Amino acid sequence: ALESLAQGQRMEALGRLAGGVAHDINNVLQAVLGGARLISKRSQDPALHRIAQLISEAAERGGAVTRRLLAFARRDNLEAEPVQVPALLEGVREVLAHSLGASITVTLSLPPNLPALLADRPQLETVLLNLAINARDAMGSFGGELRLFAAAVIVPEGNAQGMRQGHYVRLEVADNGAGMDAETLRRATEPFFTTKQKGQGTGLGLAMAQGFCEQSGGALEIHSAPGDGTRVTLWLPQAPAATSVTRPLGARPVAQER
Ligand code: ADP
Repeated sequence: ALESLAQGQRMEALGRLAGGVAHDINNVLQAVLGGARLISKRSQDPALHRIAQLISEAAERGGAVTRRLLAFARRDNLEAEPVQVPALLEGVREVLAHSLGASITVTLSLPPNLPALLADRPQLETVLLNLAINARDAMGSFGGELRLFAAAVIVPEGNAQGMRQGHYVRLEVADNGAGMDAETLRRATEPFFTTKQKGQGTGLGLAMAQGFCEQSGGALEIHSAPGDGTRVTLWLPQAPAATSVTRPLGARPVAQER
């Protein structure tokens, strides 16, 4: 527990730092973009136009990174609502079918009568898409199979992942890609840890996913081994039956007190 407290404080400090950095960098990027626009407008030289365009594109990419950083820093602004899992995962599958490319098959397995979960839906979608992008990167150009899976689970007592007793929905994103070696797996959820080439990864995907799960009253688990692919499990609390009230997160989810 002491270790997870220290980890929590570290995440909070990092979140604040990330937020400040993202904000400052964003201001710089706005100035760069403004300058590039001005060059385009004032100059007739096609070569200069091309350069201005490259500057804009680079600044836009930087902007995407700072947006992710800000999202990471603002984890406390989550709004939990009951989320119907089939609709959620069908929607995610739809997006993935269009964006992952033909070499990757997306399969979805859902048991009947799955209860709703309680979480911030847009953030959860972002987390799932980030996990799918990681899966795609791990499967490389040969492609493979990305599996989305959900189940209702009762956790009978508090466990090592820091989860409390309660009713949960387990969401899994699994791939049959390269998998992670032990060191990568150990560090995978560390903010800014990435094994990807410069510009390809921010190292925030799994850190955000874990932060999101914990803030939602759940947990994140990763199983992975070289050659065996990767399975990322999100444990999220079930929504209390027959309610559709939206409320900010922070208080203990009702589902965990049953
Ligand atoms: P990023 O994707 O930007 O590197 P993440 O926090 O999402 O940041 O992931 C951290 C690292 O964990 C990745 O660089 C990669 O080495 C490893 N990783 C994440 N997801 C997978 C996966 N599905 N298969 C193999 N390795 C993965």
